[in-house]
Amino acid sequence: MKIIEIFETMEYSPAPESPDLALEWLKEHKSKFGFFINGKWCKAKSGKVFSTNNPANGKKLASISEAGKSDVDSAVSAAKLAFPKWKALSGHERARYLYALARQLQKHSRLFAVLETMDNGKTIRETRDIDIPLVIRHFYHHAGWAQLLESEFPEHMAIGPVGQIIPWNFPLLMLSWKVAPALAAGNTVVLKPAEYTPLTALLFAEICSQVGLPPGVFNLVTGPGQTGSLMVNHPDLKKIAFTGSTDVGRLIREATADTDKKLTLELGGKSPFIIFQDADLDSAIEGLVDAIWFNQGQVCCAGSRLLVQESVAEKVIDRLKKRMAKLRVGDPLDKSMDMGAIIAPIQKERIQNLVDQGKKEGAAIWQWEGELPQNAEKKGDGCYFPPTLFTNVSPASIIAQTEIFGPVLVSMTFRTPDEAVMLANNSAYGLAASVWSENINQALHVAPKLKAGVVWINCTNQFDASVGFGGYRESGYGREGGHEGMFEYLKPKESGISKNQIRISVTKVKASATTALSLDRTAKLYIGGKQARPDSGYSLDVVNADGSLAGEIGDGNRKDIRNAVEAAHKASGWQSSTPHLRAQILYFLAENLETRSLEFKNRITQLTGVTEKQAALEVKTAVSRIFTYAALADKHEGLIHQPPMRGLALALNEPIGVLGLVCPDEAPLLSMLSMLLPAIAMGNSVVLVPSRPFALVATDFYQVLETSDVPSGVVNIVTGDSAKLGTVLAKHDDVAGLWVAGTRTECTEACKLSTGNMKIIWTNNGKQLDWYDNQQSEGREWMRRASQVKNVWIPYGE
Ligand code: NAD
Repeated sequence: MKIIEIFETMEYSPAPESPDLALEWLKEHKSKFGFFINGKWCKAKSGKVFSTNNPANGKKLASISEAGKSDVDSAVSAAKLAFPKWKALSGHERARYLYALARQLQKHSRLFAVLETMDNGKTIRETRDIDIPLVIRHFYHHAGWAQLLESEFPEHMAIGPVGQIIPWNFPLLMLSWKVAPALAAGNTVVLKPAEYTPLTALLFAEICSQVGLPPGVFNLVTGPGQTGSLMVNHPDLKKIAFTGSTDVGRLIREATADTDKKLTLELGGKSPFIIFQDADLDSAIEGLVDAIWFNQGQVCCAGSRLLVQESVAEKVIDRLKKRMAKLRVGDPLDKSMDMGAIIAPIQKERIQNLVDQGKKEGAAIWQWEGELPQNAEKKGDGCYFPPTLFTNVSPASIIAQTEIFGPVLVSMTFRTPDEAVMLANNSAYGLAASVWSENINQALHVAPKLKAGVVWINCTNQFDASVGFGGYRESGYGREGGHEGMFEYLKPKESGISKNQIRISVTKVKASATTALSLDRTAKLYIGGKQARPDSGYSLDVVNADGSLAGEIGDGNRKDIRNAVEAAHKASGWQSSTPHLRAQILYFLAENLETRSLEFKNRITQLTGVTEKQAALEVKTAVSRIFTYAALADKHEGLIHQPPMRGLALALNEPIGVLGLVCPDEAPLLSMLSMLLPAIAMGNSVVLVPSRPFALVATDFYQVLETSDVPSGVVNIVTGDSAKLGTVLAKHDDVAGLWVAGTRTECTEACKLSTGNMKIIWTNNGKQLDWYDNQQSEGREWMRRASQVKNVWIPYGE
């Protein structure tokens, strides 16, 4: 064949990577594996096993033990026992272990890559050039965080034994994203890999032995979802870090709602890939190939929704089809393949069903027409799926909304940048987005408007240990990697309740004869910058500490909360206002509160029965707290990362959106402001439910808000039964985050009821906080709670 003909056909000869190394390793273990607990290998107590197969040919690779309750108990006990010593090591000592793990992984990288490809079906090109190098980078990077832990996170400490549950699409990479930060922070680990892909995790356990990691620091159990569920429900695991589907994420959140467990959820996605008319179209199409056909599209952040500007749509689709026709699908161990096998027949079936659904919905389908490899075991296709493109897709259709988790791209068009943003955000998910435009101003204008934890400008599927990764909305919460990822494995150092925090005994609200007072004397709700009567028309008595009637408050209900949420959404300009402006308004607020300090002091004394001195201290501390957040408003800035590429990643701290705040009874003014201030300093707008017995403090406060230029709708106050109103906020799908400082039952309810849209939630878990203690109740920890990090990747150079 002539060279020119080779260029024409782009024919490749087979370039197989040898499986021998991996087969030898399997043989050494007689293709049977137990669990790695307390530094030793052990079998399932029940004797139950399951198989792990090679998706490329359906052949069994090994027998894997299935962990039941007593196995999970043993693993957790080992992690619990090892925790105090591991935590007590110096950062440097832990850094040495992480460094040793990185070195060993590097030394065995080929074995890891081949084994991963055989167990998962992804191409060797990807495991060798992407997955394993990133795994190694994670351990090196986190060796650094271990070394610097004491100096970089002086106010924080390790959490305890943590449970980690990972999916099958990036088996070893997900392990590294979880294990490296957990160990660096001083936690011990029980990890469960996905049932389809346990092999590289088992090999990693061997590496842990080789480097002499102390027994019990890393424990591995294998098994299906039930094993994961046993971990989730284990009382001794202090955190669950989960990566997987949104449905399972919801179950986990519900199961842990009445516990103190910390939770990170890295869930699914339906990420937009936006091509503007001024994009470098050839680069964008190469990017698209990577976005949706990388790992057969089984990628949480796959660019599975193509949004292309109408003026170039035809050109893009035409070139895309030509490029798709050249994709190579086949043996994952062949070094020149673009796509390998789908993880399992059941997943292939799921993809097929969704594709059939797309056809039924009237979208036009175009599929790669090459020959798919045959299954070695059975006649017919192997576990492969052709690269697939849908055009003429309606934004509301099932294929445009559901995560297909396969090599299927759905495309839509837009006319203007605003329409692109609207379509991009028209999803319950919010994991990633890719923006293609040669106009950097346009790209950087669009990036902050996208509801996604990661935005790639003129690139896609970029990952690095120094850059956090994680979602908005139903894609979960918490970040993995980077500075922000370390906080997920740490908790603030505990401090007790100081003498300044006075426990107030709340006077029972009596139904008194005076309820007949006219509505006009009732302190109204505060919605959209205006005083509003409650929808119910009812009011509730508020009594003073001495039992006399202090006044009345509106008895807010579901409709009032709905109105308040709507008003909060209308105040979205607050999010994009400058931090300087927010700081100025907060200083003004402090000034105006101070002017009225006598009035607040008297109100607090009468309502709560604390001494005048104590009430004066509360007001004074509140003024100082406002100053703190005025100061932080323009100082909680992001970071600039320099990942190993020609470019930067900007870690931006963004507000969450509309936050619901349910405030406690203690120190009613101070506690309310301690929750309100970080929220608004960060640019969120809020719907605030004040303490029921002391709500008059909040209704007095809206007069301060009115005189301080806080824009309408930024702070909305709905009084009434806080538990009931908290429930309404928890269920409201247009509330993005919820903070509840209440009883244990209220906190549990809030967690359970807010899984609908996976609200970012913080609760006090029914424990009383000391609102006078700056360490517990003010500062950056609260600013972090009020924000989510978006990482914007910007490559540069020609
Ligand atoms: P999955 O939710 O079915 O399983 C994930 C893990 O959870 C597995 O180990 C499984 O055994 C375990 N599990 C299942 N049921 C459980 C239960 N009730 N309690 C505890 N554990 C349970 O997801 P999957 O099919 O393995 O993975 C695909 C999903 O993962 C996709 O939705 C994808 O988007 C998501 N994902 C997200 C990220 C991210 O970082 N956001 C990364 C990779 C994958």
